[in-house]
Amino acid sequence: MEIREYVPLRDYTSYKIGGPARFFCEPASVAEVKNALVFATKQGLPVYVLGSGTNVLVSDQGVEGLVLRIGRKLGYFSIENESVRVGAGLPLDHLIGALADEGWGGFERLAGIPGSVGGGIFMNAGAYGITLGSFVQESMVIDHQGVIRRLSPAEHKFSYRDSIFQHQDLIVLETLLSIIPLPREQVIQGIAESKKKRHRLPLFPSCGSTFRNPPGTYAGKVIEELGLKGTQIGQAQISPTHANFIVNLGGASSQDVYSLIKLIKKEAAAHGITMETEVRLWGEFE
Ligand SMILES: Cc1cc2nc3c(=O)[nH]c(=O)nc-3n(C[C@H](O)[C@H](O)[C@H](O)COP(=O)(O)OP(=O)(O)OC[C@H]3O[C@@H](n4cnc5c(N)ncnc54)[C@H](O)[C@@H]3O)c2cc1C
Repeated sequence: MEIREYVPLRDYTSYKIGGPARFFCEPASVAEVKNALVFATKQGLPVYVLGSGTNVLVSDQGVEGLVLRIGRKLGYFSIENESVRVGAGLPLDHLIGALADEGWGGFERLAGIPGSVGGGIFMNAGAYGITLGSFVQESMVIDHQGVIRRLSPAEHKFSYRDSIFQHQDLIVLETLLSIIPLPREQVIQGIAESKKKRHRLPLFPSCGSTFRNPPGTYAGKVIEELGLKGTQIGQAQISPTHANFIVNLGGASSQDVYSLIKLIKKEAAAHGITMETEVRLWGEFE
């Protein structure tokens, strides 16, 4: 496996911004993941795990570490009874479509979420009342020392957009998800309905929702009530249509986006509301 240097991460994120990874690799097997972790340990490098890059904001300076991309090279799936075993790098949307074709469904309301299965587990991604975590039966994970183990559903510690992976250095390699046999047409219709609801989301590059919803309210509603919709810094803008999206109008810097994040946090705090980012911030920001 090739370990590349100074790889621009803007090419690997939905935001289309961000500086380079000092080192970057895309393993195609568990053995290659282990090799990459040995490399990072020997060089004393922090490890950054990247899936489809739809929920990270990488600083303009990039990251001084090893970016280990769990992508399509680890993106297989196989159906076993009423479960599907999935490599963490498979795009979730691709999985949902492929399962539909074979007459399986269950989580088609997540159709259209643009990330990998591993990223979806890390974030406990969700939409329209369901979350990916509630379908997980077991995952195979590896720690940064290269030790592999299996996690039970409870060990994932899933809660709202949160999981054990946000608190411990564990990488999802593979997961087993519950699925149910359903008529193909019914699943395809469910997928179409979920995707239709998404038509209203902003089209400019973004990371989706920037903030988690504060208890009892919606982040977008808070931002709108603060009068910040449409605010622009450089080429980054708080979307005029969906206030919890900060979009890259084209040529934004990561710092532009971060400055808007800081502005929202400050204004919300002045009204007693704590805004927590859902997007993962990588590297240094001012
Ligand atoms: C237009 C748009 C719409 C969106 N809509 C939704 C939505 O409806 N619901 C929702 O929940 N999210 C939504 N998102 C956010 C995002 O798609 C999800 O959070 C997604 O699950 C992230 O997956 P990813 O593979 O892109 O993760 P990445 O962005 O690559 O990574 C996110 C985090 O997960 C970690 N990670 C990734 N893969 C692994 C792995 N294999 N093991 C351990 N850690 C890993 C990374 O280190 C990082 O901290 C949206 C984003 C966009 C751009």
